Amino acid sequence: MRVARFAGEDDPQFGVIGDDDGVPTIAVLRGDPLYAGFDLTGQKIPLADVRLLAPVIPRSKVVGVGRNYARHAAELGNEVPAEPLIFLKPNTSVIGPAEPVFHPTQSDDVEYEGELAVVIGRICRDVSAEDVPKVIFGYTVANDVTARDLQNKDGQWARAKGFDTFCPLGPWIETNLDPSDLQVTTTLNGEIKQDGRTSDMVFSVADIIMYVSSFMTLLPGDVILTGTPDGVGPMVPGDEVSVTIEGLGTLTNSVVSADD
Ligand code: MG
Repeated sequence: MRVARFAGEDDPQFGVIGDDDGVPTIAVLRGDPLYAGFDLTGQKIPLADVRLLAPVIPRSKVVGVGRNYARHAAELGNEVPAEPLIFLKPNTSVIGPAEPVFHPTQSDDVEYEGELAVVIGRICRDVSAEDVPKVIFGYTVANDVTARDLQNKDGQWARAKGFDTFCPLGPWIETNLDPSDLQVTTTLNGEIKQDGRTSDMVFSVADIIMYVSSFMTLLPGDVILTGTPDGVGPMVPGDEVSVTIEGLGTLTNSVVSADD
């Protein structure tokens, strides 16, 4: 099931992506599939007629994992960490498909990082390997936008990873997906820049959830970014970045100057 969040007449609404004689549709839900119960309203809208929003705005946190692909660690001159390297992005950094990433004036090197994102579905702590599938609601596509110069300068990553608009998510949450070996590609203005596979992760989705939940409670709607393959690079105002994950979809965002 692909769960999308879209702009309704008044408030955001949720729907399930489907197909009506070859025309992509969205079946409108009543309620919130992440935080409460839901059911079908019976209303169906052509997907082309809705504006998709970030499929989830975490009430609590976006957790990131650094250097989780060996070739990406190497391209930035870093070792692969012995344990998952964890950081946080504020929920105010989340935007949806087709929303612009604002290139801040504080940075001269804003870079894309295409990533598989996990959406947590249940409150959990100290998750065992056996219980990992029970706490996952689904998966979406992320761009872990990073001000590389500020990341290097600051020594910790809150500013570099935390600007408003630095966490595009979407286009929807796929609830039925095996994350163990998926192609992850990132294009910049149509040119392929990253082309990796989730099977190259140093720490698997299960490893990451077990590790993070060993020291912090995870809540429904929390998002975990699982790290980026090699090929990261700068994006500047006027650029368009697309991240595609096999079996999931494509997330596209443009970059605009924060001055505009
Ligand atoms: Mg990253």
